[in-house]
Amino acid sequence: MKILLPDGKELELPAGATARDVAEKISRSLAKEAVGAIVDGELYDLFKPLPEGATVQIITRKDPEYQQLFRHTLAHVMAQAVKEFFAKKGYDPEEVKLGIGPVIENGFYYDIDAPEPISDADLPEIEKLMQRIIKRNLPLRRYTLPREEALARYRGKDPYKTELIEDLPEGDEISFYEQEGFTDLCRGPHVPSTGKIPPHFKLTHVAGAYWRGDETRPMLQRIYGVAFRSKEELDHYLWQLEEAKKRDHRRLGRQLELFHIDPMVGKGLVLWLPKGNVLREELIAFMRNEQIERGYELVTTPHIGSLELYKTSGHYPYYADSQFPPMELEDGEAYLLKPMNCPHHVRIYAMRPRSYRELPLRLAEFGTVYRFEQSGELHGLTRVRGFTQDDAHIFCTPEQVKEEFLGVLDLTLKVFGTLGLSDFRARIGVRDPNSDKYVGDAEHWAVAERQIQEACEEAGLEYTIEEGDAAFYGPKLDFVVKDVLGREWQLGTIQVDYNLPERFDISYKGADGEEHRPVMIHRAPFGSLERFIGILIEHFAGEFPLWLAPVQVVVVPITDRHNAYAQKVRVELEAAGLRVKVDERPERMNAKIRDAETQKVPVILVVGDKEMEEGIVAVRDRRTGERATKPLAEVVRNLAERVRTRARE
Ligand SMILES: [Zn+2]
Ligand SMILES: [Zn+2]
Repeated sequence: MKILLPDGKELELPAGATARDVAEKISRSLAKEAVGAIVDGELYDLFKPLPEGATVQIITRKDPEYQQLFRHTLAHVMAQAVKEFFAKKGYDPEEVKLGIGPVIENGFYYDIDAPEPISDADLPEIEKLMQRIIKRNLPLRRYTLPREEALARYRGKDPYKTELIEDLPEGDEISFYEQEGFTDLCRGPHVPSTGKIPPHFKLTHVAGAYWRGDETRPMLQRIYGVAFRSKEELDHYLWQLEEAKKRDHRRLGRQLELFHIDPMVGKGLVLWLPKGNVLREELIAFMRNEQIERGYELVTTPHIGSLELYKTSGHYPYYADSQFPPMELEDGEAYLLKPMNCPHHVRIYAMRPRSYRELPLRLAEFGTVYRFEQSGELHGLTRVRGFTQDDAHIFCTPEQVKEEFLGVLDLTLKVFGTLGLSDFRARIGVRDPNSDKYVGDAEHWAVAERQIQEACEEAGLEYTIEEGDAAFYGPKLDFVVKDVLGREWQLGTIQVDYNLPERFDISYKGADGEEHRPVMIHRAPFGSLERFIGILIEHFAGEFPLWLAPVQVVVVPITDRHNAYAQKVRVELEAAGLRVKVDERPERMNAKIRDAETQKVPVILVVGDKEMEEGIVAVRDRRTGERATKPLAEVVRNLAERVRTRARE
C-alpha cells in the first residue's frame, strides 16, 4: 500500500502497515523518537493499521498531540493500579469494574466500580503504584476481536463493558489495548509503552458519577488526574488550582461580606451586602461617567415587558428555554420578566419619527434582566438567574458602524486598563460563507465585517477571525480576558444587529428625504455586573485597588486615650470622600491591625501619643507596601488623589 508523507513523498509499505512501520522506513532515530502520528488529520498511535493512501505525519514528544496520547495511557495505568491496589487488600482484581476513562482538559479520569469506596486519602498510594508501572516501561499491545468474541469476554462478568460493546454500531472494529495482563476495551490511541509517559502527574480527587450520566443507573467513582510533559507545567497547574481555591469568589464573598445568596429568597438571586454594593456602585459610577463623556444618554426601563413586545423581538418563543415562563393575567394579557433590555430601547427609539441628524443615538441603562438557568448550572456570581448589565444600544447608519465600534473599543480598553486586566484578545465572529441562515442585507454584512476589522486595526488590538461565529442577526466581537491565574474569561461583547430594526420596522429620514433602516449595536463592556464582580474578586483575591475597596481606611487608636484623635482623622478623610472606619474596640493594637488585614482594607492608619501631639499618622499601605509616618493633611490629599484618578494601587 501507498502512504504519503507531509512533504509529498510516497512510501510503499505492506498492507496493514502502521505508523511505526512508516517511522522505521524513514529512519531508525525517528522510530525511536516516535510516539504517534497524525493520519489524515486524525491522531493515531503506532499500533493501528493505516488506511491506504493516507497522509502520515509522525509525532514525537515535542508535539502538542503527545499530551493526548500519554494522558489516555495514564488513565489505563491508573485503572491497572486501582486493580493492584484492591488485589493488595485481598480482593480479586476482577471485582474492580471499569466504566469509561477519557482524556479531558489537563488530564484524564476513569469511572470505577470498586468493591470498597475509594477516598482521596487512597490516591497517594494509587499514584505510587502508577509510578511503578511507568518505571517498568511495559509495552502496550493493540488487537481486535469479532463482536461475539468480545461480548463473550464480558457478558455476565462486566455489565459496563458489555453495554459499551452492545452499543457499538454493527460492523465497527472492536479494539483492545493490553499491557502486562491489564486489558481494556478501547479505541486508543496510546503511547507505545508506559515508559513513554512523563511521570509528572497527580490524582486530584474522587467524585461520584452516574453510569452514562443517568441518575437511574449505578453510581460509579470517578478518579480525576492531571498530567503534563514537565514538572514545571505540573507545579504551575497545581499552584493555579490552589490559588483558585483561595481566590474563590464565593468564599471571599462570605469572608468579606460582599454578597449573599439566600435559599429563601431564591436560587441564583444575589443579595448585595453593604460592602459588595460599594463595589457595584463604584463600577456603575465609573461606567456612567465614561458613557456620559462619550455621548451616551441614560434611560430607565421596567423589569417586565408585555409578551407581545418579546414576540415582536423574537425573544419569545425562540429563547423560551432560558426565560422564566410568562405571567398570564386574567384579561389575557401576559408579561415576561425581562430577559433582555433591547426591545425596551427599540421602543424608545420608535416613539416618534427620527432623522439622520439624531444618529448615532446611544441609549444606555444599567438594566436588570432575568434568565432561567438550571439549578445545577448556578455558580456564585458567575452563573445567576438575575443580573444587571451595563447595557447600551447604539442606533446608527450603516456608514457609522466603524466609528461607533472604535468608540466602544476605546471604552472597553479604558475599562480593562483601569482594572489592570492587561492580557486580552479580541475574537471577531463573521458569517459562515456557506450558510444562508443570516438575516439582513449581504452588502451591509460585508461592510460591517470589514469595518469591525478596520476598527480593531486602528485600535491596535490583537484579534482572530472566527468564521461562522456570528449570530444569525449580525457580526460580533468578543473580548477574551486572562486573569492573573491565566484563566480566560469572555467579557465585553459588541454585537451588530440587522434583525431587531427589521422586526420592529424602525427607520430614520435620511439626508435624501427617504426612510432608511438604522443598524443597532448592542454592547456591554462589563457584561453582567454580577459576573464581572465575581471575576474581579478572584482576579484581585479580594485586595481591591483603593478606589474600589468597600472600606478604604481603618484608623487604629493605640488606646482609648487616642479615640478622639482617631475620630478627627476619620472626619477629615470622609470630608475628602473616603470610606473610613475607626476601630475603637478595647482590643490590642496588633489584633486590630490583623483584623483590618484579614478584611483586606488597603490602608491602616495607627495613631498614638506622638501622632496625636504632632498631627501625624502612621501609615500601613497594603497596596503600595508603604510604611511611614506622615502629616495627616498630606495623607488625606494623597489618598483622595488616588481615588479620584482610579489609580491601580
Ligand atoms: Zn482507553
Ligand atoms: Zn441588546
